[in-house]
Amino acid sequence: MSKLEQTLSIIKPDAVERNLENEIKDMFKKNGFSILKEKKIQIEKSEAEKFYKIHETKPFYKDLCDYLSSGPIVAMVLEKDNAIIGNRKLMGATNPKDADDGTIRKKYGISIDKNSVHGSDSIENAKIEIDFFFKD
Ligand code: UDP
Ligand code: MG
Repeated sequence: MSKLEQTLSIIKPDAVERNLENEIKDMFKKNGFSILKEKKIQIEKSEAEKFYKIHETKPFYKDLCDYLSSGPIVAMVLEKDNAIIGNRKLMGATNPKDADDGTIRKKYGISIDKNSVHGSDSIENAKIEIDFFFKD
């Protein structure tokens, strides 16, 4: 069953820093995603802590929040049939070493922490994450 969905994608600081923004957007477009909204911003550590609250008990939480707030990011709303799972597939595994060929993380990811992109993992989280960046 296909269903038109929206998901939140973030191009993370390591990829923005390496000027990969347009290449990564091209990968989304070539894979049938429409970029409905986008903004390039740098967030405060306190905002990163809120965004990644789901991970607050994990050992990597502090470093993760430091990292996400360390430089400019590009937040985007992507739309496509089954966008949430489709984006997760296009991103590849969390650790770029485990990511399949042709995925964004395989192509551009440096390490498990500097893995170039974020993508929502469920319909519920996609709504929360889209609101986080784009509610006005
Ligand atoms: N992360 C990390 N170390 C780990 C696991 C995750 O630094 O051992 C970071 C990584 O940047 C990842 C983010 O925390 O993208 C969120 O983790 P999650 O398990 O939600 O992975 P994702 O959904 O991004 O694939
Ligand atoms: Mg996740």
